[in-house]
Amino acid sequence: MITELKMKKYDIDELVNIKMLINNNNDSFGCEFHEDESSASIVDNHYKCTCCGVDLTASQYIAQTKGISRIEALAYLYRVNKQSIPDWLLEQVRPNIKLLKINSDLSKICNEKLFDDTESSNNALKYLLEDRRLSLETIGKFSLGFFPKDKNFLNDLIIKYGKNELLELGIISEGEFGLYSMFANRVIFPISNNMGQICGFGSRRLDGVKKNKYINSQQSRLFNKSELLYKERGVSKGVGIITEGYMDVISCSQNEPKNSYYAALGVALSAKHVRDVLKKHEKVVICTDADNAGIEATKKFIKESLRNIDLNKVGFVLLPEKLDPDEFINEYGREKFQDLINNSINAREFISIVSNSYDEISTLETYDKFRI
Ligand SMILES: [Zn+2]
Repeated sequence: MITELKMKKYDIDELVNIKMLINNNNDSFGCEFHEDESSASIVDNHYKCTCCGVDLTASQYIAQTKGISRIEALAYLYRVNKQSIPDWLLEQVRPNIKLLKINSDLSKICNEKLFDDTESSNNALKYLLEDRRLSLETIGKFSLGFFPKDKNFLNDLIIKYGKNELLELGIISEGEFGLYSMFANRVIFPISNNMGQICGFGSRRLDGVKKNKYINSQQSRLFNKSELLYKERGVSKGVGIITEGYMDVISCSQNEPKNSYYAALGVALSAKHVRDVLKKHEKVVICTDADNAGIEATKKFIKESLRNIDLNKVGFVLLPEKLDPDEFINEYGREKFQDLINNSINAREFISIVSNSYDEISTLETYDKFRI
């Protein structure tokens, strides 16, 4: 009986032809989850791969590739197939819809707060306009905002959206002295999932203290930071350039709009991140800060991605010491930056350049072993 019920719940998986979702009519094709030519196929309306072993129904496939929950993926399939969403599913989807609406509202509210005539709002706006040299258009495009440190502001949010909902989203937390927000007195960067919904926030403190300078929303049912990349919403053009942080993405989009920019959200860059960018761009270039941490992170990424990505499509740029991409553009101009991107080196060259110890040479050998 239970099995029967379970089967019924997921009947949309049976109704949807998974071939339509993957948009590929061949019998076998390259797997979406690693780099290969033909190990994936559709068997009994499941996405299966003989190489990595994935076996996914339509909704599992949508959840994985769009970075949303299974519940949302099921609701999505009902919607796009113009089927009414069953009650049991609606009950589970509703809380997500409510939370997404709160995020969307909060993004607008914080954007408006940026233009309030208070000392702290003025300070936040000045940071974006003068220190970061962003235009009002860029601020609007990325829906940047300001979260005031103000008890009344917090109370109004709690009254309007509910304490539990705000706690679940990590917008407020409960401490020794009551409720507070970790976003207080911070610039806010709304973060979208692959469906274009605001699923979380990044933030930067404005008081000059270095500790926790940037923090993101905590992990929640909407926000899985290891799956997501920060990017400009709905735009894919030129080369997909992966930078280190939000500010690089925003200011590079403003100063060299020919390309699209991405950044991981405080987690190490993964093969999945790069595969997601490769779905939208022929070529991906990873910009690495020429400090130890940056080089180590890129080496680790190369090691881990050897068998998962076609590294021929991935270029590497080592930025001059202590310059991030935005500072580089400001100092040397757009053309020089585009030259850097056009002349990006491949993974092998990158490792050769940065190798200077036995351990690193062995990285190079590992690289060769897998690329032969
Ligand atoms: Zn596979």
